[in-house]
Amino acid sequence: MQTTEHRLHILGVPLHAATFENMLDCIAAWIAAGNRTHQICTASPEFVMIAQEDTAFMAVLRAADLCVADGVGLLFAARYLGRPLPERVTGSDGVPLIAQRAAREGWRLFLLGAAPGVAEQAAARLVEQNPGLQIVGTYAGSPAPEENDAIVQMVNDSGADMLLVAYGAPKQDLWIARNQDRLNVKVAMGVGGTFDFIAGVVPRAPVWMQRLALEWLFRLIRQPWRWRRMLRLPRFVWAVLRHRERALNE
Ligand code: UDP
Repeated sequence: MQTTEHRLHILGVPLHAATFENMLDCIAAWIAAGNRTHQICTASPEFVMIAQEDTAFMAVLRAADLCVADGVGLLFAARYLGRPLPERVTGSDGVPLIAQRAAREGWRLFLLGAAPGVAEQAAARLVEQNPGLQIVGTYAGSPAPEENDAIVQMVNDSGADMLLVAYGAPKQDLWIARNQDRLNVKVAMGVGGTFDFIAGVVPRAPVWMQRLALEWLFRLIRQPWRWRRMLRLPRFVWAVLRHRERALNE
């Protein structure tokens, strides 16, 4: 897989120089190979800053088969560090593309996470947009250990090829890593708030704001309680500027 060879590290977190197309090709190859569960992480500056303090999360990101740059801050940082990335690969735009290709190729999807009812609504929307798409299971559940075994069983019984997990970072990515050896899906991906966007429960920033790299501002205005979490953004910028040499490390 050529994409997985080309990567850089920002503050220790590996980022693959992947486009949406590359990601879809990786998924296709992994489903065709069918040998194990591959993990995809959609990293943002917030992921990078959480991983500076959470060693388990850092280990998961470093072990993931594919870490794409979902977050404009990472694209800016990569350019500043002299290793530009091809494009922003978001879960929110990636999941509809995955659904499109899944309908064409017959991949079976399972949607796990978000508030009760949201994954079902997102599934209905995706099937409506992609006739023939097979969504073989949806479940809100939670990343709590008590629910773990039952969820793994449910996902395996569904016969899904790919699992999308919306528990937010780092919980979703830790959940996937913890269950990687017991899951029968060929690909598992953390998708954050994507089901909320697809279901229309939470509005996505207008395209002009996304183009101006202001999606974070839109989210802050709509969900002001996120301000504390979003302080990680300026801290990320500061860390990259301050440690130019160390920022781009292995
Ligand atoms: N979520 C969940 N269970 C949890 C924590 C979060 O289902 O224990 C869901 C939440 O409903 C939302 C998604 O995780 O749909 C992602 O949350 P957030 O917007 O915080 O993630 P981000 O996109 O910022 O990674």
